[in-house]
Amino acid sequence: QHYLKRIQTFDPQLNSFISVTAEQALAQADAADARLARGEGGVLTGIPLAQKDIFCTQGVKTSCGSRMLDSFVAPYDATIVKRLHHEAGMVMLGKCNMDEFAMGSSNETSWYGPVKNPWDTTRVPGGSSGGSVAAVAAGLAPAATATDTGGSIRQPAALTNLTGIKPTYGRVSRYGMIAFASSLDQAGVVARSAEDAAYVLQAMCGFDPLDSTSVDRPVEDLVGALERPIKGLRIGLPKEYFADGLAEGVRARVMEAVKVLEGMGAVISEISLPNSPLSVPTYYVVAPAEASSNLARYDGVRYGHRAEGVKNIEELYKKSRGEGFGAEVQRRIMIGTYVLSHGYYDAYYLKAQKVRRLIYEDFRRAFAAVDLVLGPTATDVAFKLGAKTDDPVSMYLNDIYTIAANLAGIPAMSLSCGFVDGLPVGMQLMGNYFDEARLLNVAHRYQ
Ligand code: GLN
Repeated sequence: QHYLKRIQTFDPQLNSFISVTAEQALAQADAADARLARGEGGVLTGIPLAQKDIFCTQGVKTSCGSRMLDSFVAPYDATIVKRLHHEAGMVMLGKCNMDEFAMGSSNETSWYGPVKNPWDTTRVPGGSSGGSVAAVAAGLAPAATATDTGGSIRQPAALTNLTGIKPTYGRVSRYGMIAFASSLDQAGVVARSAEDAAYVLQAMCGFDPLDSTSVDRPVEDLVGALERPIKGLRIGLPKEYFADGLAEGVRARVMEAVKVLEGMGAVISEISLPNSPLSVPTYYVVAPAEASSNLARYDGVRYGHRAEGVKNIEELYKKSRGEGFGAEVQRRIMIGTYVLSHGYYDAYYLKAQKVRRLIYEDFRRAFAAVDLVLGPTATDVAFKLGAKTDDPVSMYLNDIYTIAANLAGIPAMSLSCGFVDGLPVGMQLMGNYFDEARLLNVAHRYQ
């Protein structure tokens, strides 16, 4: 009731929810109370949570921020929805706003309108998980799910003073999570602290036979690892992440945080990830290529938006897709089909796949020498609404520090390290495969 009331009071200003499921939430809360009264349930039973509107929820609209799916009610629950709500007993408050099909860095591509940053409502909350972070930052939910294909958990967490973690590719099931770029997409959580994030992530993780890329490997005790000492931990600062383009205030806050970790016994060194400058161009070939294929299923026939008054099937496809998808999604589909087309495939898609391998090799070398990689999450604090909407390339450069982790598949997180002119600054921790426990441990010790 507390959170539903806050949503009612403050969300008209923020626009962080697409659907609020008040009645179901109260019924789930009653069921949680009953479960706890019987001595059943666990630590998360009865705790509210907001879901990014990219996860299928049976009986509740799942729009993915798109007009295309404005009428879509999923006939099944995503695996993480099952785990968090049915098994762990968390209470779903509603579905959060997001960039359309998770394509964006500012939540301005949503068909449901932009989300405002609670720290300054003239600014963006970041994206694509802008609704998830705005809701948590404004105290409309204690935590929210989010997804990260090229930074969509970490960059919005950084811009709103939150802690967000993108686990290793394959750690969390993608079943029932609407696909953007399947080889990069990974679900995670945003919360107010690493400790909160650890509890929620623990309940989300683990093998799922319904996702062919899910990894069958035991999940570490994320909560149990939080207090481990960090003395002797080797942290590498990639020099490419502190080069031109990084705002001075952000650099200063990140370096102060490094000093704090050093004071706790961490051993700091400079490292190099030489192929970092290639990560944005590589991503903007690979991600649109996969997106163009994934989004081919929205044809106006099976489900989703269907155009009216068409004369033949060709027109039905064209009009339904033309009306259902916004400008950014259409741009990505065109780039994707172009780089995959005969005659261009080798020059773009295959080349990008090769560079992706080099980016992975950078991390492999780095993790032979250090335990963790640390840098800024974003180049600057939250920007003004509308500031970058006319310039897709400057918008894409938002992802410069976050994308490499998705291309390599490694876990990465963002946590707050202070403020510049009253706006939050985030630092990023990247770990080796399946090292989520260590990331959360270091973040928790720092916090
Ligand atoms: N900003 C990036 C994009 O627009 C990443 C989005 C994401 O991680 N979903 O594609």
